[in-house]
Amino acid sequence: MSKADTLIRSAERRIAEVFQGIAETAYVNQGRVLECFRQERVSTAHFAPTTGYGYNDRGRETLEAIYATIFGCEDALVRSQIISGTHAIAGTMMALLEPGDLLVSAMGGPYDTLKRVIEGKNGLISKGIQYREARLSPNGGFDVDGLIQLAQEKPKMVLLQRSRGYSIQRISLTMAEIGTIIQVIKSVSPSTIILVDNCYGEFVQLHEPGHAGADLVAGSLIKNPGGGLAAGGGYVAGRAELVECVADHFVAPGLGKEIGPSLVDLRLVYQGLFISPHVVAEALKGAVLTAAVFEELGNDVYPVWDDPRGDIVQAVGLADQTELERFARIVQMYSPVDSMAKPEFAALPGYDDPVIMAAGTFVQGSSIELSCDAPARPPYMAFFQGGITYAHVRYVVEQLIRELT
Ligand SMILES: *Cc1c(COP(=O)(O)O)cnc(C)c1O
Repeated sequence: MSKADTLIRSAERRIAEVFQGIAETAYVNQGRVLECFRQERVSTAHFAPTTGYGYNDRGRETLEAIYATIFGCEDALVRSQIISGTHAIAGTMMALLEPGDLLVSAMGGPYDTLKRVIEGKNGLISKGIQYREARLSPNGGFDVDGLIQLAQEKPKMVLLQRSRGYSIQRISLTMAEIGTIIQVIKSVSPSTIILVDNCYGEFVQLHEPGHAGADLVAGSLIKNPGGGLAAGGGYVAGRAELVECVADHFVAPGLGKEIGPSLVDLRLVYQGLFISPHVVAEALKGAVLTAAVFEELGNDVYPVWDDPRGDIVQAVGLADQTELERFARIVQMYSPVDSMAKPEFAALPGYDDPVIMAAGTFVQGSSIELSCDAPARPPYMAFFQGGITYAHVRYVVEQLIRELT
């Protein structure tokens, strides 16, 4: 057996129990999703595209009802016209915040692209919205006292990010922690709207932020809930009156949820959601294996293999920018699409530092498919996520060991 093979097999023995836990979560979530499909009596008629205004698009309306239930919410918008997670979250904030309102980010700064939405040109601050960040606790979690202090200022909205993002300073949040944060804020300021950035968190645990009392939940269909099949889109789920307001902003007041053509077949959006609990489990197993193997090799890994996980992101520490580039290139080289491409560090709209991205994916930029992003800044972390099949992630990990050690 090769060194890579030995390392992987011994890691797999060590992490078997974690894999079992991941499978148990997938069983429950698969049942939840299936029951929603049954409840809504999904049929092939729902997959048919609509054109023009898209009035009475039963496929869209049913899909939105299913999303609402899955995320523990009253209503939802699920649209291919929402381009990405950033679009969903930015639009939600712009729909609900008015000049003079206070927006609070609950755990330090938000995801890179959202920093621009808040602080950049044409951003929320430029429109007169006040903005504050609650500090992180020393271990990278949330800081209760800081949150209480800011809640006393009665923010209009608190933005809470489930995933760690491109950060090793902060951890991903478990659903229990999300529940605690929501309770703390609501106990001081009941009318504050809690918006959860759910990117990378869907189906990682047994519940979703709506079940824990979040007012709004938003994310991207080219991440977890698209199951690697949806060609694009975003969602916003939440309290009905808030979703209505968001829909009026995205479309036009008075039209809101009523229009929005599917244009193309919705089958893959439905099917992607249906297989998402399984695909997320595959990605999580890949992340846990990656953590175990690279820890064994002496690299820094966040989280470690047996840490609780709130998202599918695995950070792996590398020596320097050159090794980071090699890592990303190997991931790209062993991708099913564009395997011959050589990723390089480059400036990317919305990001502060140059970023390298390996995404040899069927859907452009899809990061529920195996992908790797890394900003060019110390401590040179590769953020590795996704994988439609565990076998693919395992194969890539094998190549990484072979070529990097
Ligand atoms: C991916 C992501 C977003 C949104 O990014 P898009 O690329 O616009 O979909 C926002 N927050 C987090 C934590 C993310 O991982």
